[in-house]
Amino acid sequence: MMGAHHAATGSAAWVAVAGTGPLMLGWYPVSPSGLLVGSIVCGGAAMLPDADHQSGTISNSLPPVSKVVTRAVSRLSGGHRRGTHSILGIAVATGLAVLAGLVGVETETFGRVAVGAGVLSLLLVAYAARVTHLTDGNSWGRSWVLAAAVATFITLYAPEEWEWLPVAVGLGFAVHIAGDMLTTGGVPLLWPWAPKPPRWWRKVNVLNDVWRSNGAVALPILGDTGSKREWTFAIPVTIYATYGLLLGVLGLVDVSIGGVALTSELRRVLGT
Ligand SMILES: [Zn+2]
Repeated sequence: MMGAHHAATGSAAWVAVAGTGPLMLGWYPVSPSGLLVGSIVCGGAAMLPDADHQSGTISNSLPPVSKVVTRAVSRLSGGHRRGTHSILGIAVATGLAVLAGLVGVETETFGRVAVGAGVLSLLLVAYAARVTHLTDGNSWGRSWVLAAAVATFITLYAPEEWEWLPVAVGLGFAVHIAGDMLTTGGVPLLWPWAPKPPRWWRKVNVLNDVWRSNGAVALPILGDTGSKREWTFAIPVTIYATYGLLLGVLGLVDVSIGGVALTSELRRVLGT
């Protein structure tokens, strides 16, 4: 699946799980600012598993930090689409986010300031900006300014509870793997164990797409990465994620013109 589509599915997953409006599940309800902050972080985390190859877009997103990170991740995870695309990968990423989530500072003005989340999101925001072409490989300065601005916002407006961060990172990571499973490449879900199918299995057409000769598993209903089918899936997902982001923004600002409270009126129309 393409980077921008991963980001959209990650954000959409957070909106579904953490939002309480219509078309949302509300399993892990958060404040409007938590909806906005979480969908940015979850969308960013949904690109993290692809930080496992050094030549990728991600490694150029926030130089030199991103280069160091991709080199380390690629070495630890055994190369592209291996350790980071497994259940173990989800567990490690969630564990690291637990540690980052615990780092916070109590302040008078902003309450608990989520420093760990801010540092982590610096990288996530840079990834997101790069895959959506807000920055390019040549503008280091712009990447840093943009990432630092959004990360500061996240640090200040993150939900009070520390555990939202591992929830968002774990969810985003899992959604990425699910997305890649829907395309033809598949993922080594049980890495480092990658049992290979018996010889007769490899000769049966549909079966050898689901459990591949290299041990990867897939449910390739979206076809190849970047296919028309993937785009058809990604467009409504992106609209849904944007709807969630919009609700998050509306929850933060109060605009009224001529005595009419525009944002609260819009919130009422949207059903929150
Ligand atoms: Zn991937």
